[in-house]
Amino acid sequence: MASVIPLTDLRAASAMDALDAREAFVRAAALDAAPAFEAFPADTRHRLLQDLRISVTDRCNFRCVYCMPKDVYGRDFPFLPHRALLTFEEIARVAGIFVRLGVRKIRLTGGEPLLRRNLERLVGMLAAHDGVDLTLTTNGALLAKKARALRDAGLARVTVSLDALDDRTFRAMNDVDFPVARVLEGIDAAAAAGLAPIKINAVIKRGMNEHAIVPLARHFRDSGHIVRFIEYMDVGHTNGWRMDHVVPAAEIVAAIGDAFPLEPVDPNYTGEVAQRWRYRDNGHEIGVIASVTQAFCRDCTRARLATDGKLYTCLFADAGYDLRALLRETYSDAQIANAIAAIWQRRADRYSEIRTANTSKPSRIEMSYIGG
Ligand code: SAM
Ligand code: SF4
Ligand code: SF4
Repeated sequence: MASVIPLTDLRAASAMDALDAREAFVRAAALDAAPAFEAFPADTRHRLLQDLRISVTDRCNFRCVYCMPKDVYGRDFPFLPHRALLTFEEIARVAGIFVRLGVRKIRLTGGEPLLRRNLERLVGMLAAHDGVDLTLTTNGALLAKKARALRDAGLARVTVSLDALDDRTFRAMNDVDFPVARVLEGIDAAAAAGLAPIKINAVIKRGMNEHAIVPLARHFRDSGHIVRFIEYMDVGHTNGWRMDHVVPAAEIVAAIGDAFPLEPVDPNYTGEVAQRWRYRDNGHEIGVIASVTQAFCRDCTRARLATDGKLYTCLFADAGYDLRALLRETYSDAQIANAIAAIWQRRADRYSEIRTANTSKPSRIEMSYIGG
């Protein structure tokens, strides 16, 4: 086992570069006070650890312009080799530890999670945890084929990303010429399999798909599926984000409200990411995720486990904590729980609250790797 720096002496760690320091911290934390660990850890801003997003692959069959632009993610892009990925057994083990620490919601994501072979086997392993809401976010391309098996394995719900209904815009946004009809078939298959209520995520980028807002709202208005319009975010370094590409949530709500009058709905729970609205005439809901114009860091209870087992406490974190190293050595569950609790307790992230048009970070993590 590599040498361990005591948790109480991080002076040595601070002399190393940030990644080494994080590794030293994780190992020290794992050993500190084991085998006891503190369930329900709170961070420095009193936020509990309640949601876990797990990226099961950094690969994708789409090249959405706002996420994996083709000129960066070309044929030669160095995706992670298979051995770097957490195995299903490792994911299930670490997810179980998160659940013991208080996580109540697990979302499988990526990259495109349905590209990970036999994903339903992992779903079955995770569904064994009582009291956990297990969901998945997908681009829908393979959903028609997989919906039934995912449901049978124990998946509760799905979120499907869909940025436009007109084929031309949709193909331009996914940039691999994928037809919208196939995603709509996937949504129907998910509904038929009982993966409900289905949420539809639409990222709105100025100059690309503002015209898709009202047609999306209209199409799903009576479907029972909940469309959530997402402000375009400055995740990663590759998408060329600019503040003037963001269509503010208020503008989205106004556009829909002009066509179909809306009224606000109270949040389901503290920390809910989407602001809820409902149509005055039929009571059906939409959501807007205003991560840029109305940050919700104050209630952010989400951790992200990247494809290679690094733990990130914020979508905009510049480095993660290597849990895979602990999983592949002789650390016990209680020791790994200690490490995760200690990481969470030192968390102070609130990037979206302090973002400005000119915010720049030296090393931002890409969404396809960290998990959206
Ligand atoms: N491939 C799957 C999909 O697209 O649903 C799951 C991973 S994707 C990274 C998760 C979500 O992040 C999608 O709904 C996607 O639209 C959203 N997303 C990706 N890049 C984004 C950005 N720059 N701003 C806002 N949302 C983004
Ligand atoms: Fe792939 Fe999802 Fe990113 Fe689009 S948003 S490129 S589907 S990971
Ligand atoms: Fe949470 Fe970070 Fe997003 Fe704020 S910026 S809501 S802390 S993930």
